[in-house]
Amino acid sequence: MTTRLPLVLTVDDHPHDECGVFGVSTPHGEGVAQLAFFGLFALQHRGQEAAGIAVSDGNRARVHKDAGLVANVFTPESMAPLTGYHAIGHTRYSTTGANAVRNVQPFLVETMHGPLAVAHNGNLVNAPALRDELLGRGFGLTATSDTEVMTLMLAASGGRTWEERLERTLPAWRGAYSLVLLADDRVIAARDPWGFRPLSVGRLPHGGYAVASETCALNTLGCVEISEVAPGEIVTLQGAEIHRRAAITPAATPARCTFEFVYFSRPDSVWAGRNIHHVRQRLGERLAEEHPADADVVIPVPDSSIPAAIGYSRASGIPHNDGLIKNRYIGRTFIEPTQDMRERGVALKFNALSENLAGKRVVMIDDSLVRGTTAGPLVKLIRDAGATEVHLRITCPPITNPCHFGVDMGHDDDLIAARLNVEEMRQHIGADSLGFLSIDGMMQAIGGADDTPAATGYCNACYTGRYPIEVSQAQPKLGFEGVLA
Ligand code: SF4
Repeated sequence: MTTRLPLVLTVDDHPHDECGVFGVSTPHGEGVAQLAFFGLFALQHRGQEAAGIAVSDGNRARVHKDAGLVANVFTPESMAPLTGYHAIGHTRYSTTGANAVRNVQPFLVETMHGPLAVAHNGNLVNAPALRDELLGRGFGLTATSDTEVMTLMLAASGGRTWEERLERTLPAWRGAYSLVLLADDRVIAARDPWGFRPLSVGRLPHGGYAVASETCALNTLGCVEISEVAPGEIVTLQGAEIHRRAAITPAATPARCTFEFVYFSRPDSVWAGRNIHHVRQRLGERLAEEHPADADVVIPVPDSSIPAAIGYSRASGIPHNDGLIKNRYIGRTFIEPTQDMRERGVALKFNALSENLAGKRVVMIDDSLVRGTTAGPLVKLIRDAGATEVHLRITCPPITNPCHFGVDMGHDDDLIAARLNVEEMRQHIGADSLGFLSIDGMMQAIGGADDTPAATGYCNACYTGRYPIEVSQAQPKLGFEGVLA
């Protein structure tokens, strides 16, 4: 039986993050699969193509995973066998390997040391070489994602414990990984030495610990004592106990992904000590200072740009209001739209509020311009609703380079800012003016409350082309697909 994967409607011009990961270990074993379900539910925004949960009762591990949203993949029936004390979960958007069921995580394998399940957020830039090495050693591979490579490397590694095996394997991995492992009696979390992707751990209110890509998932479960898994750190969750050790030397300069602040992370999450919503308001304030507009109203492209529109309004004195209403349930669907519906494009996702737009000079705030496919239709939608002028403001710099660390932005040819300058983009989109926040402005917004710019410790490669690590070995998203068609 083949599972049909959801159709991705092409009315979204945002980059896609590939995954959210979650892990939990309790001494009492009550409802760990349910805790994992609600943890993944809170991380749904990080990936909507597939989801999975693996649970261990101390001896035996089971996994349930499939294509679809978390709430669709898991039913009371599919959750019933997932009993145990320790669990990991994953919600996926594919960045390496096609959107295929064989790539859905967690990967679960039987090893000579017992069961091992792995779920991963990020992307290894040296995955092709690691994969070739495994194939050369006679390993069979069933999937096309780098996570299977990581799983098999761990299973084949020497060492007395999973922590030792992980510690021995980590130096071979170059790139972004926020990782959770499930062994028979524990959950282990690890983060790459550059700290590209977020990963935090917290204590559960009724005993045990949880780890998640974002703090919002830990808050959902009522966790306290929340802290980041440090770059290069291994954290073991084992019932009522937690053990932390610096396993690999952190990079001299961390490379946290600035796009987590601009777009990916949920606004109620905290990363690097910064609340995402607060940073986004500051992005809007800086944008107003750098690119003022003579206008009557500021509107966000909902939802991710709402805090920035509030910030732009606050700094500029221009009132903000809703101008676009978003259908929050569109994005992944099993229903193929008709050609006529496809041509309606953004109208499937957004409707304009002419009551708030007619006769007005409008500043529209969006978080990013990637392929440039939706900005033009949105500007037209606002003009059709009666706006006299539309000024587009973007809360990050132009994206001119692809990401190799787990964010699907497409290739150079796909990126509108790699082909056109700002004036050419403005003409292409049909806006009256177009302004992007500068790198300095963005880093100032991400910086501390005292307005100190966060000058170092962040990755800005998609804006600058200066990658924090060598990326010449990196493969495109479907680089392994020729092997397993
Ligand atoms: S290249 Fe861009 S999207 Fe990728 S990790 Fe760096 S800042 Fe984030």
